[in-house]
Amino acid sequence: MRLPALLLAGLLGVASAQGGRLDVAVSDPRDRAYLPAVFGAWRGAGRDLSALGLTLPDTRLAAAASAADFARRTGEPWFVAATTRGAVIHTQRLGALAARGTLALTIRHEAFHVAQPRDLPRWLAEGLARLFSGEAGRDPPGPTGLEGLPEGTLSARLAARGEGDLSAAYREATRRARQLVRARGWARVLAPR
Ligand SMILES: [Zn+2]
Repeated sequence: MRLPALLLAGLLGVASAQGGRLDVAVSDPRDRAYLPAVFGAWRGAGRDLSALGLTLPDTRLAAAASAADFARRTGEPWFVAATTRGAVIHTQRLGALAARGTLALTIRHEAFHVAQPRDLPRWLAEGLARLFSGEAGRDPPGPTGLEGLPEGTLSARLAARGEGDLSAAYREATRRARQLVRARGWARVLAPR
């Protein structure tokens, strides 16, 4: 009776062709409808990360029951989609991300964080995660207003999670990461520093 017990607990797993098993625990049973989309995005991310020379480790994804539950579990504000701590990805309710049209983008973004070199500065890690996920393609064109911000200040602003200026900080980190990748290529940007 092991399988029914596992299903009752809401724990489901998948093995990606490129390694990196994903175990998913959902809090809201309705979130099970989105598991195929999660696993599809995970496998696609594994393939694309592998092409960049990065490997997805075995990972656990815990989807919260609500925005309040997510905030309680992670200490993050309600407007954050997901956060990765070591090999655990905490997300908002999967249905909420799907309703916003950001479920696959969020999985790819967090997959990048799980596989990225540990020593990337925060601004670069966030910029690269948004380039890799495809979120960067949704950024409005034009200046971010933060072009002159020192890198350390940009990283601190991303870490502080201030609602007002977080989106501009993410766009600025993405703009700088894109410039670096264009100039040096992914392999050299990801190389140990
Ligand atoms: Zn991120």
